[in-house]
Amino acid sequence: MPELPEVETIVRGLRAANTIVEKTIINSRVLWQRSLAVPLPLEFQQLIKGQKILAVDRRGKYIVIKLTSQSLLIHLRMSGDIFVESGESNRNQKHDRVILDFDDGSRMSFNDTRKFGRIWLVDDPKIVFGKLGPEPFEESLTPEIFFEKLNRSKRQIKPLLLDQTFMAGMGNIYTDESLFIASIHPTTPANLILFEKTALLLSAIREVLSEGIKRNGASIDWVYRGGDFQNHFKVYQRDGEACHRCGAILQRMVVGQRGTHFCPYCQPKAA
Ligand SMILES: [Zn+2]
Repeated sequence: MPELPEVETIVRGLRAANTIVEKTIINSRVLWQRSLAVPLPLEFQQLIKGQKILAVDRRGKYIVIKLTSQSLLIHLRMSGDIFVESGESNRNQKHDRVILDFDDGSRMSFNDTRKFGRIWLVDDPKIVFGKLGPEPFEESLTPEIFFEKLNRSKRQIKPLLLDQTFMAGMGNIYTDESLFIASIHPTTPANLILFEKTALLLSAIREVLSEGIKRNGASIDWVYRGGDFQNHFKVYQRDGEACHRCGAILQRMVVGQRGTHFCPYCQPKAA
């Protein structure tokens, strides 16, 4: 499932010159109605026609496409992907769900095998983003504020970091990697983590996400973009292998229904 670095990689691709920015949508095709969260297909097609793409951005795991008078938001969820093409396509188009046709003859296709992805066409993105927590890289998210946010919660640290209302963008891979770097056991109650450790965790999160972005994301569960972060995992899906730091055998456990990978020696359970 794409997390912040994978979505950021797609956004940077879409933002590149002559991809979609500055193009005008002359037609749209909705091939799977439920890919649209709002509005209904007919209204979507009427509203989006004639709008020009002004900018492409990211908020949490959402792709944000700013149009002349509205915003198009895309959440890829489990298997969503985006292709921009002109002329004949030689990929499998069976799972294309929504297609936008541009004035230069090219088109953008939202492809989604498992159909969990969603698209919103809205006047104000806040309607969708209302409850999203801060971006991990936001400057206003200082170590002090991060500590206070954690200190207010008795929840286990891993599910809390995955909660998009706590912080936007984290998923299973980057959470496991961050907790390893900060030497925090995944089940530690958030309010029991000392300030020094929370500061270390915030910098670990930023380090791991930056590394993921630099490597164009991870190509695991989700095979695209040539990302190779999966070759640099320290703990994720390495259970049974040796910890690079201490040599102990890495373990896997289930925390908040998610497979969780950690080093029992580097990340001791809080007493
Ligand atoms: Zn270790």
